[in-house]
Amino acid sequence: MTTPPQQRMLSQRALAAAPSPTLAITAKANALKSEGKDIIGFGAGEPDFDTPQHIKDAAIAALNAGQTKYTPSSGTVALKEAIIAKLERDNGLTYGRNEIIVSCGAKHSIYNVMQAMLDPGDEVIIPAPYWVSYPEQVKLAAGVPVIVPADERTGFLATAQDIERALTPQTKMVILNSPSNPTGAVYAPRMLRDISDLCVGRGVYLLSDEIYEKILYKGQQFVSPASFSDAARRLTVTINGFSKAYSMTGWRLGYAAADKDIVAAMSKIQDQSTSNPTSFAQAGGVEALNGPQETVETMRQAFEERRDYIVSALNDIPGVKCLSPGGAFYVFPNVSAVYGKNWTPPGDSPRTIGGSDDFAEYLLTAAGVAVVPGSGFGADANVRLSYATSLANIQKGVARIADAVKRLE
Ligand SMILES: *Cc1c(COP(=O)(O)O)cnc(C)c1O
Repeated sequence: MTTPPQQRMLSQRALAAAPSPTLAITAKANALKSEGKDIIGFGAGEPDFDTPQHIKDAAIAALNAGQTKYTPSSGTVALKEAIIAKLERDNGLTYGRNEIIVSCGAKHSIYNVMQAMLDPGDEVIIPAPYWVSYPEQVKLAAGVPVIVPADERTGFLATAQDIERALTPQTKMVILNSPSNPTGAVYAPRMLRDISDLCVGRGVYLLSDEIYEKILYKGQQFVSPASFSDAARRLTVTINGFSKAYSMTGWRLGYAAADKDIVAAMSKIQDQSTSNPTSFAQAGGVEALNGPQETVETMRQAFEERRDYIVSALNDIPGVKCLSPGGAFYVFPNVSAVYGKNWTPPGDSPRTIGGSDDFAEYLLTAAGVAVVPGSGFGADANVRLSYATSLANIQKGVARIADAVKRLE
């Protein structure tokens, strides 16, 4: 008997996917914590507040009322109606039920967009620094991410001209995320309009990830690109969700608003993969959108106070340069001035800090502070700190960073 030939275990697709860079540092920080080390975490990509009680109560009531079965795959009528009302109220957008799809988190919504819209070789323009999942999700759909770099000199924002230079006949889509993860940068309405006009002029789709819409600071203005014109509306896929505004990351609930044919294609993909998002989570989502909004503002104010503190404290550290973000709950300081400096782990030989991965490793090992290296966001000069943690933690953590940077030789 001959042995059958060995099959490859993993797909090319799985082999090509990059692991999440936030997970590596989180795993290491958790390992150190379990050894009893005192670690201050700036890694978390989620609000530190609990989900507001009235939202939890709505989900509990739904469970008790027997809402424990399949719902329509693309979401309940009640939640779609709440989303339609929200888009009208907050964003001046008018959509019908067949133009809305609810998924298991905004991340899942974006995944479905890529699966529904990209063919092999289609190019998707992604300004860097970018959210780590965009290029990976494009690649999982056999598309080609085209990175347009932006840095502190333009406030981490890509202009319409930057994007225009990256357009080719293969360009299918542009992804914008304002306010941004990881930089907190916010596009001014004028810049957004220029990019939207460019997309309309060239027949390119625009994916607008608006998950941080509600975490916006003094002097900033939020606008949805789909609201600019009928033509912009046809080409824009608007993504939003509950995780950040309502501190509902674990609920896994997000949505997309788009042309009905795009939504129908996304629904087909969702039908054959996850089916509906969790029934009682959707009931919580209805309450989040239709219920009182005070907690959203309370959290926003807390984030703004922390932002003011962390930006000024980081800028007091020689070698660290930090822009003041207009939204979200991240700062993205430039730390490249310390690259090339050295440190010596106890009982080991000296090491040189060559980039953001080394710097994050240094802070974790030598200062007990977890930050996320910028390399995974397409910006190796920077690191990301989430200030979705208490002011006391922020003060202690930044003091440790200052001390650690001073110790570098
Ligand atoms: C957190 C986040 C999301 C998705 O959040 P979900 O929990 O999947 O709804 C999407 N985009 C960005 C930029 C994010 O930071």
